Amino acid sequence: MSVAEIFGSNVFNLAVMKERLPKETFKSLKKTIQDGTALDASAAEVVANAMKDWAIEKGATHFTHWFQPMTGVTAEKHDSFITPTDDGKVIMEFSGKELVKGEPDASSFPSGGLRATFEARGYTAWDPTSYAFIKDNSLCIPTAFCSYSGEVLDKKTPLLRSMEALNKQALRVLKFFDSDATRVISYVGPEQEYFLVDAELYRKRKDLIMTGRTLFGAMPAKGQELEDHYFGSIKERVSSFMKEIDEELWKLGVLDKTKHNEVAPAQHELAPIYSTTNIACDHNQLTMEMMKKVANRHGLVCLLHEKPYDGVNGSGKHNNWSVGTNTGENLLKPGKNPIENKKFLLFLASVIKAVDEYGDLLRVSVATAGNDHRLGANEAPPAIVSMFLGDQLTSVLDLLITGKSSADEVVSVLETGVDSLPIINKDATDRNRTSPFAFTGNKFEFRMPGSAQSIAGINIVINTIVADALKDFADELEKTNDPQAHIMDMVKKTIKQHSRIIFNGNNYSDEWVAEAEKRGLPNLKTTVDALPVFVSDKVIKLFEEHGVFNEKESRSRCDILIEDYSKAIHIELLTMLEMAKQQILPSCIEYSSVMIDSINKKKSIGLSAPNEEKAAAKLTELTEKFIEKIDALEAIKEAVPSGGVLAEATYYKDTVLTGMNHLRAIADELETVVAEKYWPFPCYEELLYNI
Ligand code: ADP
Ligand code: MG
Repeated sequence: MSVAEIFGSNVFNLAVMKERLPKETFKSLKKTIQDGTALDASAAEVVANAMKDWAIEKGATHFTHWFQPMTGVTAEKHDSFITPTDDGKVIMEFSGKELVKGEPDASSFPSGGLRATFEARGYTAWDPTSYAFIKDNSLCIPTAFCSYSGEVLDKKTPLLRSMEALNKQALRVLKFFDSDATRVISYVGPEQEYFLVDAELYRKRKDLIMTGRTLFGAMPAKGQELEDHYFGSIKERVSSFMKEIDEELWKLGVLDKTKHNEVAPAQHELAPIYSTTNIACDHNQLTMEMMKKVANRHGLVCLLHEKPYDGVNGSGKHNNWSVGTNTGENLLKPGKNPIENKKFLLFLASVIKAVDEYGDLLRVSVATAGNDHRLGANEAPPAIVSMFLGDQLTSVLDLLITGKSSADEVVSVLETGVDSLPIINKDATDRNRTSPFAFTGNKFEFRMPGSAQSIAGINIVINTIVADALKDFADELEKTNDPQAHIMDMVKKTIKQHSRIIFNGNNYSDEWVAEAEKRGLPNLKTTVDALPVFVSDKVIKLFEEHGVFNEKESRSRCDILIEDYSKAIHIELLTMLEMAKQQILPSCIEYSSVMIDSINKKKSIGLSAPNEEKAAAKLTELTEKFIEKIDALEAIKEAVPSGGVLAEATYYKDTVLTGMNHLRAIADELETVVAEKYWPFPCYEELLYNI
């Protein structure tokens, strides 16, 4: 089959709908998909039946509501299509009701206290804006997930709400321009980084199995210093994995486009072509799931953790975001002459204002225990949120504000760059790889998200904060007598007011940390520092005002995130102690006894081996220290304070992580003095280079 034939072959997309639905039903479903209008029950009945027939022809036996609870991964519960008949046989049935609504037992999903177990009811509701698809012989129906009392329990519903908020406010603003748009949509293209590791080696590492990252491991002789892996030729096993992943994703209608090696050994990237935000989010979830599955078929394991190996580059997920209209216009496209492009400047100003006013909330949206190992280390963007606009666009804004330049000069600035993609791209890749939030020609690239994260939370935040900025603009313009005359003043005022967020320099440098502090930009170094922002008055009000989260929902989500942080580190702590006590310590003792035996044997025939004795003494000394650190960490484990989720998380950040680091330091030193064949699990060299 050709790629064109494979693509979308397992998706109930518009083409299939058109072919299989009565004209009227197709029309109303299409309207629902494109404009977000409600679909009536009789149409749902017809759609369900057509979906079932199509799915059965494709070999499906079951259906499932596919949803995205707050675990960050997807959930599904499969029911078969069978319905018994009087004569002891079955027929295959699927009703409109089953399509539209599901009722999974919700008590085992995190709710942050929103739902006690006695009211465990949860509902899933069909999201017709994302196509149904077939996976593993099940018809999967993308759904939203909420509680009996209507509070959302998932990541999709608030994402759809945030898209709605953005649509509403952007349309209010577009009224002041010449535009036929009736809907404004945000688009996302998420670039996904990941590591591959040999499955057999993986199975020997409890830390990788339990936590997704190595908790021990000395650096190999060769790290990423040579930088020979980035864009390097792809190894055969990896390449066959990539081919299969392409095919699987294409079947599911995922616009999987780019693949290449990343900076670190055994690290790779996959990027799709961008799509509307909720579909991009669904597809990114499917991509992560498929990467794991397909890796297994090739004797590999796909590691999505942000920092599988200490000392080696971590993995992120670049969230490319833009906003456009249903008439096909990208509102972040500078055009030939940006300084006169009021609409572009206004939307640009709205993003600048949003990122400056809510930089701390953007930081929250990427706060996880795993991502803390990346942000602020010398590889990923720092924990300080700032924006890169590039020299050309910055000079356009400078000219705009100072008014110093004539129109001619402005045009020449633009002709040398802003609208010319090759030049913009050069900037984007060369100059601003360190920036957390970079303008890249016609979109913004948010580089802080972690590789394992769902992109829902990130885009809920971006959509909502931009909606909020647009709302302020719309309020202001609706109040003025001559809005046309006022637009540019408003844009200029906004850019002036928020210019501190723009930084085109090196975000990794210490000077920037100092400079950012001077500018008053927050530096929320860890998840625990960042998360309380989620429940600040400012943020609760923001989400409430735009109908994205009510206060209860914000608070419960914050609690879940804080608990997730503590849980992740708690599991690491237990795994680490287990490996230390049951694997590393016995190995050290075994090897040291081999050494001592050898020394004693030599002595018994009158040979002296003073250096060997020294080596044995060093091993003993390190082993003693190691036991000390184990005991210290055991004591830390027993002393977790009670006093609320935040106090607990703070303890994990300050005390537990420190104890873990101390234990690891000694273990990694031991690894360098214990013979390889005595070391209880594969070392970094094997994990990174045996692919
Ligand atoms: P680079 O590799 O320089 O970061 P690419 O042009 O390859 O940039 O794009 C990276 C990602 O951004 C891809 O997923 C791409 O589809 C996506 N993208 C491109 N244009 C847009 C846009 N207007 N809105 C959102 N995402 C976009
Ligand atoms: Mg990129």
